[in-house]
Amino acid sequence: MNEFYQKYKETFKKYEKSDKGKARQRKYHNSPKGRKMLNKAKRKYNAKLKKQVFEILGNKCVYCGCIDIRCLQIDHIQGNGAKDRAKGNISTTLFLKIIRNPEKSKREYQILCANCNWIKRAENGENKGKIPAPIIKLPVFVDQNMRTFL
Ligand SMILES: [Zn+2]
Repeated sequence: MNEFYQKYKETFKKYEKSDKGKARQRKYHNSPKGRKMLNKAKRKYNAKLKKQVFEILGNKCVYCGCIDIRCLQIDHIQGNGAKDRAKGNISTTLFLKIIRNPEKSKREYQILCANCNWIKRAENGENKGKIPAPIIKLPVFVDQNMRTFL
């Protein structure tokens, strides 16, 4: 396959750039198989960018130091996430923005784990009352006669 490709490389390239080639590619990308392939490639690309972004921003939650990448999120330091997202800064666009301008981005974004992110939102009132304020339960102790006291 590789040898074959090498031999006709120029021809293939020409075909890919031609209207016929482009139409064929479009057709493929719109087919279930092609869409699946595209999505897979997109996910892989996104994961690669995300890794770079996390490296720039320090790879751990700035509040508690959690390093489990599965629960780490990119947080807007000023809490203007909704506005930023409305501008189109989501997923790949956001990743590329951070990678292209790391120093500026470090002042705008930070990494928080999901827990710290929700706590920060609640404390800053960013959740618009969607999550009620936490009910803080004081520890209850039980004495020898099974009476509870605070
Ligand atoms: Zn945390």
